[in-house]
Amino acid sequence: MAASMASQAVARGLHGASAKYLFLDKFKCARVSSRRWLNLQEYQSKKLMQESGVTVQRFYVADNPPDALQAAKRLNAKEIVLKAQILAGGRGKGVFNSGLKGGVHLTKDPSVVGELASKMLGYSLTTKQTPKEGVEVKTVMVAEALDITRETYFAILMDRACNGPVMVGSPQGGMDIEEVADKSPELIFKEVIDIFEGVRDDQALRMAANLGFKGPLERQAADQIMRLYDLFLKVDATQVEVNPLGETPEGQVVCFDAKISFDDNAEFRQKAIFALGDMSESDPTETEAAKWDLKYIGLDGNIACFVNGAGLAMATCDIIDLHGGKPANFLDLGGGVKEKQVYEAFKLLTADPKQRDRRDGDFHRCFLPPSHQTDHQMQAISQVEAILVNIFGGIVNCAIIANGITKACRELELKVPLVVRLEGTNVQEAKRILSESGLPIVAANDLDDAAKKAVAAITRK
Ligand code: ADP
Ligand code: MG
Repeated sequence: MAASMASQAVARGLHGASAKYLFLDKFKCARVSSRRWLNLQEYQSKKLMQESGVTVQRFYVADNPPDALQAAKRLNAKEIVLKAQILAGGRGKGVFNSGLKGGVHLTKDPSVVGELASKMLGYSLTTKQTPKEGVEVKTVMVAEALDITRETYFAILMDRACNGPVMVGSPQGGMDIEEVADKSPELIFKEVIDIFEGVRDDQALRMAANLGFKGPLERQAADQIMRLYDLFLKVDATQVEVNPLGETPEGQVVCFDAKISFDDNAEFRQKAIFALGDMSESDPTETEAAKWDLKYIGLDGNIACFVNGAGLAMATCDIIDLHGGKPANFLDLGGGVKEKQVYEAFKLLTADPKQRDRRDGDFHRCFLPPSHQTDHQMQAISQVEAILVNIFGGIVNCAIIANGITKACRELELKVPLVVRLEGTNVQEAKRILSESGLPIVAANDLDDAAKKAVAAITRK
């Protein structure tokens, strides 16, 4: 999986470090994220936090206005906060297509919550982290509002450069953390965590002090930090982000927002969490690919790549590039592939181009360079104009691939040129299947030849 992440990074052109590499420059610490990490809604993340003894405000969840109103009354709080639940951040400053401004509303009057919710539910909320058309709100969180005297930023994330988890914090959190990272990077603090030792007490206290918590609040914040780290480990998170981690006039340290991402490699031992996953905000092609145990990565060129293995994917993308072409995507078949998967893979590769959006926590927007950030924002995937199959049959039997290809070509009535390079197990049989198929498949001798032929097929068009 590590190789696969690297390949995604490279294939997306994320390896060229940028001069504006905020976090990397300052702290020699950065991360490239896999796109298949599960994200949960704020209310789901907060439930997990509650279970780990992290302080969050009391809340209910509703998917219709009458329930939201009832929840507001039931809370019996001095003030109520109504929060639209979408995976993107920046909701506070977002706008709904109902005309309502703000995905986070505070009110002292519970009777208005139903009406407010009716302007959120079923409408799209656009924030700086969503696509232009926004994301439909299906759930709202009705929570007890608390006065916040100060908002800080705190996150724990798995970081490759640090070979483990790292804590990042700023005394100036809240809705404008991007601006803080941009204008006052000296206000961003980092603590590298030793995975074997965990968060040491002195580290938690130092972070709490750096976040500006004073007197007894320092100890309280340090305890929250340690609990957040326990949660981070327990749920196999890749990121736990709290923005804001705030303090109240009553002297409480509270997590007011929550964003947790999970390592998909841990799905087998985090079944309950992964069952909560709502794929409706995920990229549809990636989701469909995952169903067939295929790994799909969208890129912005016009040659679809059908490969097995991350290394081969990287090499294929590079060689296409070398010959003046651009990969449109790559689909990694992995080992032990069946004919049906080959067929489904072709279906995905030739499907209509889609608008895709990607969202992450505030961390990505603040601390990763623009070259990374484009990946988290909207991408237009261009039309596939040619397909390049590049399979090295080690575990994979080339004949299975060849049968899958011919079936897909016939049934999907493939309209774009198809260049195939097969090598390895049972390759002679595979070549025979392809050549006897009578299909207009361009055979390639090696990877270089395949890339050249795919680029030429497009240029000729
Ligand atoms: P987002 O990050 O998507 O904008 P947040 O949950 O961080 O959403 O909320 C935005 C802002 O709303 C916070 O920075 C905070 O000022 C305020 N807020 C959020 N939850 C509460 C709450 N329970 N009580 C009072 N204010 C809140
Ligand atoms: Mg927030």
